[in-house]
Amino acid sequence: MADTSLMDKLVSLAKRRGFVFQSSEVYGGLGSVWDYGPLGVELKRNVKDRWWRAMVHARDDIEGLDAAILMHPKVWEASGHVSGFTDPLVDCRTCKARFRADKLDDARCPQKPSKGPGEHTACDLTEPRNFNLMFKTFMGPVEESAAVIYLRPETAQGIYVNYQNVLNATRQKIPFGIAQIGKAFRNEITPGNFIFRTREFEQMEMQFFVTPGTDEEWFERWRGLRMGWHHALGLDPARLRWHEHGEGELAHYAKAAYDIEYEFPFGWQEIEGVHNRTDFDLGRHQEFSGKKLEYFDQAANTRYLPYVVETSAGADRVTLTVMVDAYREEDVEGEVRVVMGFHPAIAPIKAAVLPLTKKDGLPEVALELYHDLRRTIPAFYDDGGAIGRRYRRQDEVGTPWCFTVDHDTLTDRTVTVRHRDSMAQERIALDQVVQWTAAQLTQAAG
Ligand code: ATP
Repeated sequence: MADTSLMDKLVSLAKRRGFVFQSSEVYGGLGSVWDYGPLGVELKRNVKDRWWRAMVHARDDIEGLDAAILMHPKVWEASGHVSGFTDPLVDCRTCKARFRADKLDDARCPQKPSKGPGEHTACDLTEPRNFNLMFKTFMGPVEESAAVIYLRPETAQGIYVNYQNVLNATRQKIPFGIAQIGKAFRNEITPGNFIFRTREFEQMEMQFFVTPGTDEEWFERWRGLRMGWHHALGLDPARLRWHEHGEGELAHYAKAAYDIEYEFPFGWQEIEGVHNRTDFDLGRHQEFSGKKLEYFDQAANTRYLPYVVETSAGADRVTLTVMVDAYREEDVEGEVRVVMGFHPAIAPIKAAVLPLTKKDGLPEVALELYHDLRRTIPAFYDDGGAIGRRYRRQDEVGTPWCFTVDHDTLTDRTVTVRHRDSMAQERIALDQVVQWTAAQLTQAAG
């Protein structure tokens, strides 16, 4: 049985502590669009930074890119999105609800939630019809068909149309990759599950260009690397698995596709796809643009269209995944302790500084330490309330270390460091705190 109460608790914590808010909430909200609050924006940035580090900075065979969201409309004809980026839509004539025909098993009849759509006697479903998921708008002041333009439904196409620019501007040779993080938009029929499926989201995509014939080997290599990245993010390996796309599931461009799935409270769901896109996209752009996009291999004196191995993850989905994975409740002396056990590298706040009392000069010492820490890491200062309650507040947002300044600090120049996960406490020298924290973070980063 799915633990939906966990999602309810998470959504409520996310709002209360400033991770995620509903978009335009004062107007009643906008369906399945969410805003990231002060802690959420840090968390998501940390996820993206870690991806960027692993994919771009730590490798010499991948370059970064930031392509525009708006692209020439022909891009989407070439990519197949205008004709084929559709989901089958089913309406219920009785209750007017809309469902994805291929996801009916996951949906509930709004009139009788114990049954699926079509199973209740009053249900009257239409035949499925295809619905294009791209958001359309107009470029310029005239709203005519010639001015139609789309919000990109994936970031990958920005990479394909820039592949030769990047090649010419760098010293890369095949095999090499281009990575980018950016917004994508899909007019999903049934969005939901908080930030899992939204209409506006961010993707972290990398396209790796290889010599045809080496694609299967690279595909396997990228599968291993991407699963390793999720493990290194601290996700529970038992809640991660592979799902191979069968014949009927494969996208029009793919020769092989595997999803990395995570076990959410609402079931196993995709968080990242690894696809062998062959030379489909470059071939289509070559055809539609009339420009040669072949690669000249100097050593072998041959020309060819590279094959592409794609890794495509959702930044919002991975952020949700780390939140779900991190959330735990513990019984501590008869009280519930809520902990977000984030990996220190992605924790929004790395350290909190807490003076034991608001007098005797303790706040002055604590504030100095807090300002020292803030020079290099996000830190938080809290002098309000009982110390136990202050620890709990930090546990709930996943702060790995709290430093408490007490009366002993004034004489022996040491502070208590309290560890989030074990709640263990130890004394360390006040003038070592900044270095100590940096060392912990380096060690945790691996
Ligand atoms: P799904 O089957 O869940 O609709 P998909 O197979 O269409 O996903 P891809 O096109 O492979 O997804 O997109 C790559 C990644 O982008 C997904 O693994 C997911 O993390 C993210 N993603 C796709 N659609 C959404 C969305 N509507 N909201 C949030 N993230 C998304």
